[in-house]
Amino acid sequence: MHDLLRNTPDLETLDKRYFFHPFTALADHERNGPHVVVKGEGVWLEDNHGARFIDGMAGLWCVNVGYGREEIADVLQHQALTLPYFHSFSSWATDTPILLAERLIEMAPVPMSKVFFGQSGSDANDTQVKLVWYYNNARGKPGKKKIIARNRGYHGVTIVSGSLTGMPSLHSGFDLPLSFVRHTTAPYRLWEAEPGLSDEDFVARLAGDLENLILAEGPETVGAVIMEPVMGAGGVIVPPEGYYPAIRAVLDRHDVLLIADEVITGFGRLGTMFGTTAMAMQPDLVTLAKGITSAYVPLSACMVSEKVWRAIVDGQGALGAFGHGYTYSAHPLAAAAALANLDIIENDGLVEQAGARGAFMHARLQAAFADHPLVGEIRGTGLVGAVEFVARKSPATRFEPALKIAGRVVKAALAQGVITRALPHADTISFSPPFVISEDEITQMVEGARKAADAVMDDLVREKIW
Ligand code: PMP
Repeated sequence: MHDLLRNTPDLETLDKRYFFHPFTALADHERNGPHVVVKGEGVWLEDNHGARFIDGMAGLWCVNVGYGREEIADVLQHQALTLPYFHSFSSWATDTPILLAERLIEMAPVPMSKVFFGQSGSDANDTQVKLVWYYNNARGKPGKKKIIARNRGYHGVTIVSGSLTGMPSLHSGFDLPLSFVRHTTAPYRLWEAEPGLSDEDFVARLAGDLENLILAEGPETVGAVIMEPVMGAGGVIVPPEGYYPAIRAVLDRHDVLLIADEVITGFGRLGTMFGTTAMAMQPDLVTLAKGITSAYVPLSACMVSEKVWRAIVDGQGALGAFGHGYTYSAHPLAAAAALANLDIIENDGLVEQAGARGAFMHARLQAAFADHPLVGEIRGTGLVGAVEFVARKSPATRFEPALKIAGRVVKAALAQGVITRALPHADTISFSPPFVISEDEITQMVEGARKAADAVMDDLVREKIW
């Protein structure tokens, strides 16, 4: 089947004719067509013309154990033959989700009580909002319905999670955000803090912004705040020391829940099993997806604290049965893949490895980009990093967004055999490779990106833009 597909000569034509691509400039796509990947091994991808690339993004921050893991493939085959599917509505269950739920609660970064399964980060964050609403209805506080997210936060694209996502370009065109969503300041030092501001003062300002927003809205109307431990798609933004304890103190004063969106950071990306631990967060609800199966099959999970769970159970009498769930909630195939994936992560020591390879990657990024004339900031922690481009370093000045600088660098990097990703809201390219990447491959990835940035700089000079 696989070879048959590979040898189909006109995949590009068929794609242009039939395939509606997500997150794609559609008019450009109609002209230029797709880039078709047909094979993956470790950190390497191969396209349908035989060209090979280092996947510096692990797909979309998700193929953490790398491509071609037979352990997961074997488990999937076995599960598909034993029991491909049965649902979990009305107290029905299958075995692998039960085992996975137990394992997740045992490894949870802060005490958690129950796990609700879905299939994507977006639907999991929708579930979290419904849990917050049900929780507040159940405990007689039906006014507490507003959800606060951050500018540049990424939480998905469904109508609710897309509203939480703090990126105007994902709202315009879709009549978002919904009216109960608010956004607060991101801990984005480059653009939100004047040079020389101490971490302490920056944290005080960010916590103050959140508290002022809650007070302006009325604490009796605010249900929860959702935050990624380290912001991913918004620019790989690492908050300053002390940020989450200060945020938690604000939330405790106003009886507001904290949802940690660990869709990227969960399962080792920051060099700790969960970003919550690395960033000293104390969430009431945790969202997981991506790395839970290393994306071999779709799966997401909401971890729910006892406080929220108990209120929901106790509130059932008045509110009726818990009327929420997907056909594919607790899919046995996905749960089996997750268990195999967690075995690999634990048996191969991949969390520690992500930390060590991350330190190596950051040293390479500093060596390659610190003195680059176009680079305003190099960010990240663990095995996630980013380079932000600026028109001027001091005072930091943005490029015109229409120039799409990050997009140009990504294209030039591809010519070097390196896949990175443009985060256009931040003129930033990001790196989030599989945890199995070797030091040599990291060096190759970073050098390819540096050559790409040089090529773009030459173009900008030639075009008299810079
Ligand atoms: N939350 C975060 C932090 C994410 O990075 C993403 C996806 N990039 C999502 C939620 C949405 O996940 P999905 O695309 O699986 O819906």
